Amino acid sequence: MEHIFAPWRIEWVERDPAAGDNGCPFCVLPERHRDRESRIVARSEHCFVLLNNYPYNPGHVMVIPYAHVSRWDSLDDDALLDHSQLKAATISTIETTLQPDGMNAGENLGGDAAGGSIESHIHTHVVPRWSGDTNFMSAIGDTRVLVEALEDTYDRLYDVFETRPEAAENEDNQGSENAVELRF
Ligand SMILES: [Zn+2]
Repeated sequence: MEHIFAPWRIEWVERDPAAGDNGCPFCVLPERHRDRESRIVARSEHCFVLLNNYPYNPGHVMVIPYAHVSRWDSLDDDALLDHSQLKAATISTIETTLQPDGMNAGENLGGDAAGGSIESHIHTHVVPRWSGDTNFMSAIGDTRVLVEALEDTYDRLYDVFETRPEAAENEDNQGSENAVELRF
């Protein structure tokens, strides 16, 4: 239990120097529409699911509204509901795909004291946990292995997201650069 908040601490290291005018990768990545490369695995009307670049565990993702806001009460009801639905679908997808012993789902709010690195754009971490797991990133410490693991995790989550009842009929989905579209 002492490590329950550790996953949030190593949440993001910039991989794309073109972070955009406001310097926020959570704004730029979904606008690039190169979802596989950006590791956006699923999208809904108001939010998207992004694999964490430096996962605490394989399957560590973030559920992020498109809106660049720092507070949950800045989102309207539609966006809040959509975020909850996408989070629920993400948790279910991770359960099916990776069969963890448990999960952490949570947020860093308010900057340094909470341990977050991108405080200006709210996002919810979902981290699968296994009994006795150790920090995956520090355990492997090998960039090539990390990239392969991320691509493998992306494909596995993608395939299960695609089978969800909310997944939009889209023949272009398979093997494409587009994330799975979910409609709640
Ligand atoms: Zn942003």
